[in-house]
Amino acid sequence: MIKRLFLIPLCALLILSSVACRHRGDFDGGEALDADGVAKKQAELAAENAAAEEAARVTPDTPCYWIAGSEVYHLDRNCAYIKDRETVESGTVRTAESAGAVRACSHCKKP
Ligand SMILES: [Zn+2]
Repeated sequence: MIKRLFLIPLCALLILSSVACRHRGDFDGGEALDADGVAKKQAELAAENAAAEEAARVTPDTPCYWIAGSEVYHLDRNCAYIKDRETVESGTVRTAESAGAVRACSHCKKP
């Protein structure tokens, strides 16, 4: 009899504390998730920007086009300066530079 009486408040205490814990967990979890979510989104955007910059950056291996004897290479084969030319050399920036095309065309240069 004494044992059963003791169990009732114990159960109530357990239920209350579990409810309180769950509630507090939801609150903190929600706040933390929001902050994490924002930070994660910012990290994703930063990664996308970095990837876009990496893609836009001209490296020695970037494909390009140039007219033999020209000092300018073009990144876009459809650039207005070369699209109607019949003899357009193609290769990487490295090969363009060794062929004398040492400057990127300002018309089709990537931003
Ligand atoms: Zn061009």
